[in-house]
Formats: sequence, structure tokens, C-alpha cells
Amino acid sequence: MVVILKQNADKKQLDNLVNWLGSQEIKVQATVGVHTTILGLVGDTSKIDIDMIQSLPIVETVKRIQEPYKNSNRKFHPLDSIIDVRGQKVGEGMFHVMAGPCSIEGEDQIINIAKAVKSSGASMLRGGAFKPRTSPYAFQGLRGEGLELMKKAREATGLPIVTEIMSASHLELFEDVDLIQVGARDMQNFELLKELGHCKKPILLKRGLANTIEELLMSAEYIMAGGNPNVILCERGIRTFETATRNTLDISAIPYLKEKSHLPIIVDPSHASGVSWLVNPLAMAAIAAGADGLMIEVHNNPPKALSDGAQSLTPAQFDETMKSIKGLVAYMGKSMGKVEQ
Ligand code: PEP
Ligand code: MN
Repeated sequence: MVVILKQNADKKQLDNLVNWLGSQEIKVQATVGVHTTILGLVGDTSKIDIDMIQSLPIVETVKRIQEPYKNSNRKFHPLDSIIDVRGQKVGEGMFHVMAGPCSIEGEDQIINIAKAVKSSGASMLRGGAFKPRTSPYAFQGLRGEGLELMKKAREATGLPIVTEIMSASHLELFEDVDLIQVGARDMQNFELLKELGHCKKPILLKRGLANTIEELLMSAEYIMAGGNPNVILCERGIRTFETATRNTLDISAIPYLKEKSHLPIIVDPSHASGVSWLVNPLAMAAIAAGADGLMIEVHNNPPKALSDGAQSLTPAQFDETMKSIKGLVAYMGKSMGKVEQ
């Protein structure tokens, strides 16, 4: 962090600042020029409140040189993290496809979809039980019953299950969930993130609708700072001025996150596009950009789906997509995750 002082900065206030930084284990290297004095802050500045420094009367500007996230930062953890999800390794060389309906709608539906996506090569089953819907009148999910049906589908197929949590008060219900999803709308639900930091469950953290990459990593930091290192990031498209698609898939976020962080990154082309025929090309682009896996919505009867039918693939379309991605996954030097049973 670099602090540029105002001209004729009060000496006493400057001493106070330097002493306080010293108490935070930050060393200060001052460069005194004719008109300007620059303070170079050396040490772990991730816990220093930049706004507080900026608000001091003696300070002209402050610039952060080091990223404010530490646990998720590749600088402090150069090797890729590998996250274990019920025996499946996510990250470093493995490529996982999490597939299933937007919402769990019933026992036959989820079990049949689970069997179909597994036979096409998916290695995890996704399905929403608690659904974040824009309208309170829209289908809200089967909630606790949905979680039980997911477990039945896991029993039938061996696929680890991924499902979204919306409230920390539901954590007990999620005890037997293999990968807990934090949805885009909850990426900055900090109390939820803190609670998830206190468990050891793997967490799939989706990027918020209008959040920066740094904000995504700061949310990962909330979970990791609490003692849970098992975070998988998910790029699912962000809101832009473009209206042709539901969201805009930020492809550059994939290599950028790989550079800045050691955490695995999954891409969700279904929510990114909002239209089923775009899922395949976006999935290919995500793989080419270095993603560690995909999350794809699959429904037995998309026009009748209770949520997100327009972006859902039929099992047959999903099968085609899986066939088309395998060569590219191998070309990228990755192996498809697989579940035996
Ligand atoms: C979902 O995965 O069904 C979902 C609601 O996703 P997102 O939080 O990315 O909108
Ligand atoms: Mn959905």
C-alpha cells in the first residue's frame, strides 16, 4: 500500500499514523520529496482499512499494491488447490460436469435425470431445493423434501450432490449435502459466508450478478478466513447492458481468476446465457479458457420446467454436449471426473 501525503502534513498526525501502523506490524518507508512525501507500507496490509487511511486529514491519496485477499491469493499459495467432494477431486487436472435440473420437482424427475446425466458422463448432480426466485409467487422449491430426493438420487447413482443454501439457519439440513452452493444472489450474504467458514464442507461460490472479480475473491476470503479452505469458484455470467442473453459470460474472469487465485473455477453456461442453444458454445469457450468444470441445467421436459426451462438442455441435448466437449477437455490436458457405481 502506498500513501501520498498532503503538502505540509502535520508532523504529530503523521507520527500517530506511523505509530498505529507499527502496532499493526506494518513498517513504513518514507520518501520525502520537495513537494510530496510518499509512504510505502511494508507488511500484510490485507487487514488495513484503506478508507480509514484515506479519510485522514494529512492524506492526499492511498493506493493498494497488494490484493486485499490473502487466503484465496495465489501469491501465498502458489499450487492449485484440489477440493475433495465426496471422493471426487476438483481442480488440477480433473474436469467435472455438474448437471441436473434447476429445481428438483419430484422423485421420478430427479432420479431419472440423475441416471441420464450420469450415463452421459456427468460426475455430480445439481438440483435446487431452496430456490431464489425474483417473484414470491413463483415456485420456491421443494425445500427440505427436495434435499431428501437429492439424497435418493445420490443413492441411485452414486453421484455427489450439489444444492443451494439460502440461509445459515438451514445449515443443519445441509449436513449430508456434498457440495453446498452459494448462489449469485447470496454471494455477499456475509453472515451466511461466515457460518460456512465454520464448517468443513466444500462450498461452490457463485459470482454475484453485478460483482467484480475482486469482490468474488473477497467473499471466498470470508469463508476461508473462518477456517474452511474448501472453496470452488463459479463464473455464471454478470449483468451488462446486453439484453440478447440473460447475462454476459465473463470469459476473461476464468484465466484472470486462475492467475490470481489457487481455487478451482467452474463455469455455468446455463445461467450465463439463459438460452439452451448457447450452452454448448459457451461451455466450449469456458473449457478453452481453462475452467475446471461446468455446471449445466438439464430437464426431462424443459417447456414444462418449474424454473429456468428456456436454458435447460434435454437429456439428449446434454448427451450431445458431453460428446462434443470431451475432445477439448483432453486437449486442455484434463481428465473427465468419473463416478463408479
Ligand atoms: C441456480 O444454480 O439454479 C441458480 C439460481 O444460480 P445463480 O445463483 O447463478 O443464479
Ligand atoms: Mn436455474
